[in-house]
Amino acid sequence: MSDLSDLYQELILDHNRRPRNYGRPETPNRRSEGYNPLCGDHITLYLVVDGETIRDVRFEGTGCAVSKASASMMTEALKGKSLEDAEILFQSFHRLVTGCPELGGKGPALGKLSVFSGVSEFPMRVKCATLAWHTMRAALEGRPEAVSTE
Ligand code: ZN
Repeated sequence: MSDLSDLYQELILDHNRRPRNYGRPETPNRRSEGYNPLCGDHITLYLVVDGETIRDVRFEGTGCAVSKASASMMTEALKGKSLEDAEILFQSFHRLVTGCPELGGKGPALGKLSVFSGVSEFPMRVKCATLAWHTMRAALEGRPEAVSTE
């Protein structure tokens, strides 16, 4: 796994050390849990959704650098977004880390989430990177029970 060093770019390391939006909002109205048994990553995601807008999104959990950084950067990307944009971002991010070409032009850009493109070369890590996103989707669909990447 020595090739992984390229993957742990500075931004990912920074978000792992100092995760943004870590904790529980006072009044979350969406919540879900995600678990990646292959790596041991575990996340609880909380959202405050107001109509069609994600007002707040926070997470708690334990896991590897990729899973924590992905959750941290996802929360930054989702705040203030519409539910529709959140779904488009989910799909764009999923394509990025699975090595498929981007949708192109439609919806919000991935921006700094693009640092996760290197993950596509490491199938084991794809589940770490997408865990928070699958959990977000489950929360928005009203599925609070634990999501597993398996
Ligand atoms: Zn992991």
